[in-house]
Amino acid sequence: MTPPPRRRIEPLPDTLISQIAAGEVVERPASVVRELLDNALDAGATQITLRLAAGGVRLIRVEDDGCGIPPDELPLALRRHATSKIRDLQDLEAVLTMGFRGEALAAISAISDCAIVSRVANQDHAWRLDGHSGELRADARSVGTTVEVKELFFSTPARRKFLKSDATELAHCLEAVRRHALARPDVGFAVWHEGKLIEQWRRTGERDHLPALEQRLADVMGHEFLAQSVWVDWADPAEQALRVWGRAGVPQQARARADQQFAYVNGRFVRDKVIAHAARSAYEDVLHGQRQPVYVLYVELDPRRVDVNVHPTKIEVRFRDSRAVHQAVRHGVEAALATPRAGLLATNEQPKVVPPAPVTAPQSSQTNRPPSHSWSAQAAMKFDNPVGHKVSDLGALWGTTATAPPPWTSPAPEHTAGLDTLQPDAPTVPTAALPAVSLNAASDLGSATSAWPHPPPDAGVAATPRPAASPTAPPEPTPPEPVWPLGRALAQLMGIYILAENAQGLVIVDMHAAHERVVYERLKQQAHSAGTADPAAHRPLPSQALLIPAPFAATPVEVATAQDHAANLALLGLDITPLSPKTLAVRAVPAALHDADAVALARAVLAELAQDDASTVIQRRHDALLATLACHGAVRANRTLTLPEMNALLRQMEATERSDQCNHGRPTWRAISLRELDALFLRGR
Ligand code: ADP
Ligand code: MG
Repeated sequence: MTPPPRRRIEPLPDTLISQIAAGEVVERPASVVRELLDNALDAGATQITLRLAAGGVRLIRVEDDGCGIPPDELPLALRRHATSKIRDLQDLEAVLTMGFRGEALAAISAISDCAIVSRVANQDHAWRLDGHSGELRADARSVGTTVEVKELFFSTPARRKFLKSDATELAHCLEAVRRHALARPDVGFAVWHEGKLIEQWRRTGERDHLPALEQRLADVMGHEFLAQSVWVDWADPAEQALRVWGRAGVPQQARARADQQFAYVNGRFVRDKVIAHAARSAYEDVLHGQRQPVYVLYVELDPRRVDVNVHPTKIEVRFRDSRAVHQAVRHGVEAALATPRAGLLATNEQPKVVPPAPVTAPQSSQTNRPPSHSWSAQAAMKFDNPVGHKVSDLGALWGTTATAPPPWTSPAPEHTAGLDTLQPDAPTVPTAALPAVSLNAASDLGSATSAWPHPPPDAGVAATPRPAASPTAPPEPTPPEPVWPLGRALAQLMGIYILAENAQGLVIVDMHAAHERVVYERLKQQAHSAGTADPAAHRPLPSQALLIPAPFAATPVEVATAQDHAANLALLGLDITPLSPKTLAVRAVPAALHDADAVALARAVLAELAQDDASTVIQRRHDALLATLACHGAVRANRTLTLPEMNALLRQMEATERSDQCNHGRPTWRAISLRELDALFLRGR
């Protein structure tokens, strides 16, 4: 084949340049929607209406109530590289508007039949510019701008062939609106398709107003998301100008696909690897396998520290210090997830968003504030006590003398006493002991108790007085112990589950899974040297010598491993020494696990250590080794627990970080509200 003859170098015609540029910016109708919404927001709109036909292919019309464009500038709006948003390089480097490249309208008008109708304040009518003919004439509308885009890709049919069905294109357009709406609760959005209103999100308040954002999140993401997520709020202590906030879904909400992850940088939706990686790694310890977390996260930082001009559609950004951003996101989400969530239980019951509370300036680090719920703030405060997140003495839990939860978990000694008195009649209905306990709780907590959620008035049967179970029982059950989110243990089921009663109903706890997490977190806390700069530095676990060493028959590999890893074993609180070429003896175990089966524990740890070479294993697999220890240290299924033991475990869970899921990422407890139980039994129908 002969090559085609060489052609002269010529400048491209203007339309073709725009059409080529459009290829980068406009991939499908949703891209147009995104650009037009950006423009409306940049113009200061408070209400934006989007009208679509045929999934946006036939028509996209965006109406806003922003500042408008004066008639003499209308033709410039369609010109390539013409913008009102930046003037020089300095402006570009600190840009805070959504747009700044001045190419969107030019690109869109090059590949569609487009028109702009706009009116600025103090003008008695609007002006309409026809993108095709360039004709400018008087028109009617209130102050603001309408951009109308018809027959997208009509001049570039090859492109049009790539479009999917109208329904798919519509879905992409809606996704674009969702992304904008999540960042701007101060703007109302309405979407019409083929003359029908298909989505509407009212303006909910000021942009940085948390209740406004909460309402918008509920509107766009659904109440379920709000109920099943926690507040993230992190300000880098070293760098006050860097803040991460938003909501992170609890691990159980994770999905197979990463399709519900919304990340914003200075209000702009981005797909950013740094943020995505940081967020995923924050879930590492609570979410295993390929599951993808759900979140909406807002990163705010000095605009000069992020380059938004790296991608034509500005969906990617480049951070000047991506490490700081990574750490802020990771720490923020991690801290939010670590707080035990039982105290937030009632969120599930109260999808309605509560009245506004004042928003404070960026918080200092580590405060996970569920900001507007007075009651949940109470619950969160409880976990923030000075010894918060520390696991109490496990010896007390499993030792023979343990009869009560550790003192710091209950606000008053009366509770401890109350626990004991509950024990004898626990198998029957234990409500008789309740009023006294509740009264004490009320006086202890003062006004806090009144803020605890009682069933809302519209909760149907839950709010109406319930018939007494028997003539001798109290006429109406008082809500049980309000200060214990996971409630009061009632019984053990099949040797596997603990059943407990709290203010909302029934709580079911997977006893082994929960205890395993409690033990694991405790071991981690003992092992991670607080305050050292090196995160890989580990303190040896406190060790306890066995009164009688436990010998066991060992394989040659086990014996060799025990010798090679003597130092690592010591770090784990284990002392395993050879008695003979075929026998090992366990002489000491981690103090926290003194009740565990020493031989089984030793074998499991040796098996794991044998997989790696001696020197590095402890650094890389430290947490995994602790998890192995925890698994053996945790209470086994079929072990009968007394009520005080069960209650002690519940209290420990409430105070233990990440206790809402086991070491394998599964939930450790579930709640069934009274309302759900009522529904099961068709009560109140
Ligand atoms: P950019 O947004 O990057 O500046 P565009 O091509 O999107 O470029 O828009 C060009 C200019 O037109 C903007 O800079 C702005 O001044 C004006 N403009 C576009 N849309 C609107 C609107 N909805 N309201 C007011 N002005 C607008
Ligand atoms: Mg723009």
